[in-house]
Amino acid sequence: MTTDSSPCSPQPGTVWFVGAGPGAPDLITVRGSRLLAEADAILYTGSLVAETVLQWALPDCEIADSKSMDHEQVVAWLIERARRHRTVVRLQTGDPTLYGVLAELAQPLDAAGIPIGIVPGVSSAMASAAAAGECLTLPEVTQTVIFTRLADRTQMPERESLVELARHGCTLCIFLSIDRIEGVVEQLLAAGWSTAAPVTVVYKATWPDERILRAPLSDIAALCRASGIERQAMILVGPALGARRWGELRPSKLYDHSFPRRFRPARDGVNR
Ligand code: SAH
Repeated sequence: MTTDSSPCSPQPGTVWFVGAGPGAPDLITVRGSRLLAEADAILYTGSLVAETVLQWALPDCEIADSKSMDHEQVVAWLIERARRHRTVVRLQTGDPTLYGVLAELAQPLDAAGIPIGIVPGVSSAMASAAAAGECLTLPEVTQTVIFTRLADRTQMPERESLVELARHGCTLCIFLSIDRIEGVVEQLLAAGWSTAAPVTVVYKATWPDERILRAPLSDIAALCRASGIERQAMILVGPALGARRWGELRPSKLYDHSFPRRFRPARDGVNR
């Protein structure tokens, strides 16, 4: 599309940070796909975003892969295109607010007076839970989910070490750590988790080569190594995993007739 901003108008275009979703092209949002179809220029992360997502782009849209660019080059590319075009898209894997560099890219764009917009995406955490058929929360079992990772070159704040977070005993979605699965296991054990605690690892959720591994905490590292899974995988742990296979579940209070909700009085007519 050649909707270049008019040379008379100093008004720059908008840079949209769009979540591409976890991999399957039809898991981008309607808003995200609409922006791709309107975009004059798209910069995507080649290593992570399935190129099929680009099926939405117009034939004359300028498309570039940022995998060989450094941070300054990415910033310069976006600023330069926003000065010439109305709609520029930075396409990112999953949801753009998680484990990306959104703030680092937004700062120089803000400084250059270029408006930005953010379109959420289906995070790989949600896609992994869905692929594995798991619930991350379960009434009276766990009502809290922590998204976290192990430290590497990216240092973690001390209060967020995995061992500290794991002491809560709630669901953990562990990103960016499958290559150090032994370290994950060690920290969960140190936090008091049992060797029998169920762990689910989802490799490339929603991709054609998706794989799901399930094992107790004591065996999961060996299983991942034996399966050659060392990247692009989500580690899910938590007390609700496997609940579909449990004998009896307490019904959620949401569907309990004695539990009134805002638009549905309790059967005894009392709204407590
Ligand atoms: N913003 C992304 C996360 C990027 S960090 C999101 O919201 O999903 C990259 C990490 O995300 C990977 O190391 C892996 O832990 C996880 N990941 C990304 N895509 C995945 C997928 N399709 N299946 C499983 N995990 C995935």
